[in-house]
Amino acid sequence: MEYKIQANKLKLYYGNVLALNKISIQVVKNSVLALIGPSGCGKSTFIKTLNRMNDLVEGVKIEGEVLLDHINIYHPDTDVVMLRKRIGMVFQRPNPFPMSIYDNVAYGPRIHGLTNKSALNSIVEKSLRGAALWDEVKDRLHTSAMGMSGGQQQRLCIARLLAVEPEVLLMDEPCSALDPISTMKIEELITELKQNYTIVVVTHNMQQAARVSDYTAFFLNGELIEHDQTDAIFTRP
Ligand code: ADP
Ligand code: ADP
Repeated sequence: MEYKIQANKLKLYYGNVLALNKISIQVVKNSVLALIGPSGCGKSTFIKTLNRMNDLVEGVKIEGEVLLDHINIYHPDTDVVMLRKRIGMVFQRPNPFPMSIYDNVAYGPRIHGLTNKSALNSIVEKSLRGAALWDEVKDRLHTSAMGMSGGQQQRLCIARLLAVEPEVLLMDEPCSALDPISTMKIEELITELKQNYTIVVVTHNMQQAARVSDYTAFFLNGELIEHDQTDAIFTRP
């Protein structure tokens, strides 16, 4: 079994407050890991440590390490911009840029220097297909993303990540702000995406964890209290 990510004795302090206490966990390549636990237990904090979303904030202190393909992402030489290209993240509230659907998806490739129009077109199409959104938007690529439904916006945010060819997708309660049908579409998408990506998804919904994940980790008060194959956890008496 190949590990894409390994956290080793990871601790995170907000000022004096210990929010993560010696978290050690491995994420198997091309699997879905669900993080479950009550509000305030550190799920969001943990997922953000995986692409260095919180250690550059004032007052935050991190100990321990996070390995991506066996390289510590907290090494001083890490290129954080490149790291976030490799490890993309979507949030509870979809946050498309206030621009066209096309420009949202083309944004990342353009930032990384791609200007060729036909290359951009093909990346935009491929990414929207990858996010199961192409058929719904192909006739209105140049209309504003702000006119899409919440579920479409969330899939657009996923397409925006796919456009820069990430390796890992982090999802922080990606369905919490969505209706049941949109939630089902995102869940189906997650199970498709794991063929090609390693996925970590925070959810407060046990059924969702059971439906989409291969592994489940339970957090409580900043500690990892259980981590196993999802099948094993949900069939245990
Ligand atoms: P969860 O995602 O499980 O709801 P969080 O990771 O958001 O939990 O929060 C874990 C703990 O850290 C909580 O006690 C929360 O209040 C605290 N916390 C989260 N973000 C910050 C921050 N930026 N500054 C200070 N404390 C924070
Ligand atoms: P969510 O449930 O969507 O993670 P929260 O209400 O837990 O939203 O947190 C919203 C934002 O506030 C997050 O960026 C989190 O890091 C920050 N935050 C949470 N708790 C605290 C806290 N005690 N002090 C400062 N910032 C906090």
